Amino acid sequence: MGLEAKFMNEGFLTSTVDALVAWARESSVWPMPMGISCCAIEMIATAGPKYDIARFGSEVMRFTPRQCDVLLVAGTVTYKMAHVVKKIYDQMPEPKWVIAMGVCASTGGVYRSYPVVQGIDTFLPVDVYVAGCPPRPENLLNGLMMIQEKIKKTKAREFQNIPMLEPVKINGN
Ligand code: SF4
Repeated sequence: MGLEAKFMNEGFLTSTVDALVAWARESSVWPMPMGISCCAIEMIATAGPKYDIARFGSEVMRFTPRQCDVLLVAGTVTYKMAHVVKKIYDQMPEPKWVIAMGVCASTGGVYRSYPVVQGIDTFLPVDVYVAGCPPRPENLLNGLMMIQEKIKKTKAREFQNIPMLEPVKINGN
């Protein structure tokens, strides 16, 4: 059977290189696990066999920011720790995304006190907020899928030749 006849019988698929590249990018998002307090336990559970984050191509959690695409902040961020979180974010290459996991990372949560940052969006560009105290692993996976949706709408070349950002000061330091 000739190729043309085969297509007529079985149909064919068209796409663009951009769509193919976006599919590959959204299916291999490597998280930087910033497990700071109790939310980290649920984040770790997400990587286990029951919830199996590998289904989304994100099982490769790296502990070096230079190999990561998404900063996963899981826990209460104090002002002392905020400098570390920001530095790790700065060391991640573009393009990059941020998930605030749990109410503490999103808003400070129950800690309305002077040492706790009232939401990491005061010093980081948060893409997805995951509700809960702590959020269940399914909820974190939902947040990851929202990041994948965002990636799908971008093109890799948008992120080429982006200048390095100046480090942001936190509380004047
Ligand atoms: S949101 Fe709840 S579980 Fe998560 S770090 Fe805060 S207190 Fe702990």
